[in-house]
Amino acid sequence: MEQIFRDNAYERSCEATVVAADEKGIRLDRTVFYPMGGGQPGDQGVLRLAGGGELRIVDTRKGEEPEEVVHVPAAGAPLPAPGARVTAEIDWQRRYRLMRMHTCLHLLCAVVPGEVTGGQISDGKGRLDFNLPDTKPEKEQVTAGLNRLIEEDHEVRPRWISDRELAANPGLVRTMSVTPPIGTGSVRVLDIEGVDLQPCGGTHVRRTGEIGRVKVTKIESKGRQNRRFVIEFDD
Ligand SMILES: [Zn+2]
Repeated sequence: MEQIFRDNAYERSCEATVVAADEKGIRLDRTVFYPMGGGQPGDQGVLRLAGGGELRIVDTRKGEEPEEVVHVPAAGAPLPAPGARVTAEIDWQRRYRLMRMHTCLHLLCAVVPGEVTGGQISDGKGRLDFNLPDTKPEKEQVTAGLNRLIEEDHEVRPRWISDRELAANPGLVRTMSVTPPIGTGSVRVLDIEGVDLQPCGGTHVRRTGEIGRVKVTKIESKGRQNRRFVIEFDD
């Protein structure tokens, strides 16, 4: 399964062949659909059949095999036969908002000191939990820090580093909840030049300026040391 979104998150559609289709979902030989993972929801969109007609995809999940992506069709939709040619097209407006918010959460890691203990992205909203025993940041301060990094329009670049390089730099792993997959020889990291560097397999924008203005809408205490930061777009 060729995962096109890994190298090019801006690819909205691709031609593909149906490999298998059952009640759990549809598998293609290649796809632009991102499967739920790393706090980012799975893509929605359509599969346009070469012979006419289209199939709405309501969710995308990881399969049981490594690199396998399962496209979940709308309930009751007729399944395409293996070998059928399709054009797979994501709901780009939604995905782009998810990419902007996902990239913004990387910036939040640079603004707020402390280990990340959890996180979630939804359409138009994102949150990260930090282990912060000693400090109580203010909403206004964090909002200003984020918008400064966004305005500075830093380059955002995924790249691969070796397991050995990662092991030699334990500070790279900011999240306690999401352990990067070690043992395959290399790990995908996201590099926001001079701002943040950490393992991540999600989809991101190319420059921080694309995120647009954001605001911290809430900082909640979750337990004695945990603080939850909720971010929304400030359109
Ligand atoms: Zn990421």
